[in-house]
Amino acid sequence: MDVAQNLERVRHKIAAACRRSGLGPEDVELVAVTKDVGLDAIKQALDAGVKVLGENRVQELVRKYPELPGVRWHFIGHLQRNKVKPLVGRVELIHSMDRWSLAQELDRQARRFGRVFRVLVQVNVTGEAGRFGVPPGDLIDFVNRAAGLEGLRVEGLMVMAPFVTDPEEVRPLFREMRGLFERLSDDSGVRMRYLSMGMSSDYTVAVEEGANMVRIGTAVFGPRKCTLRGD
Ligand SMILES: *Cc1c(COP(=O)(O)O)cnc(C)c1O
Repeated sequence: MDVAQNLERVRHKIAAACRRSGLGPEDVELVAVTKDVGLDAIKQALDAGVKVLGENRVQELVRKYPELPGVRWHFIGHLQRNKVKPLVGRVELIHSMDRWSLAQELDRQARRFGRVFRVLVQVNVTGEAGRFGVPPGDLIDFVNRAAGLEGLRVEGLMVMAPFVTDPEEVRPLFREMRGLFERLSDDSGVRMRYLSMGMSSDYTVAVEEGANMVRIGTAVFGPRKCTLRGD
């Protein structure tokens, strides 16, 4: 497993996809997802120029945090309210604010420590019950309410597409999310900066459709042992 080589391939593909989306490669932030990845491989990625790491479990982030000083951490996973506190002061951005009760708790903990959490709102793309995220139809209202909380700064949306074998199948969905992102930027009072969309299996399509933040694990670090996608 050559992490540096993998990264080069990923960056190359992002740059190619950018030529189709109209963004510059420097406009797309690569979040290297390090869940279940050991420190050695992570250090290889940092040596190869990775700036931002993403974790989806609080415990794992807290464990790795002191080992890797100077890293910018993003939290990308489903978040329980009683696990919010350790994230204060440790993470630069939370991608997965997916419900109002979590927004309230993030706000509460940030204010307790005199801080602000920067957050993205996770969209329940299919609107299905049982999937995490805010249904598209509720977004404007949700974003405006969350923007009223002093301890939060809403900066965009996070999208997780259903798993498909051919990423072309999710292109229409990504396109729809891009449209939603732009409408929200126009219609809410909130400046939407980041559209976090695309993982190892679908990031080229996501970038072509306007993602400016991608969360990539497997394509950089190789397959994980036995973790379920997104757990
Ligand atoms: C694991 C994970 C990713 C990265 O998945 P890969 O398929 O390994 O690139 C992205 N986003 C979230 C929320 C994840 O949990």
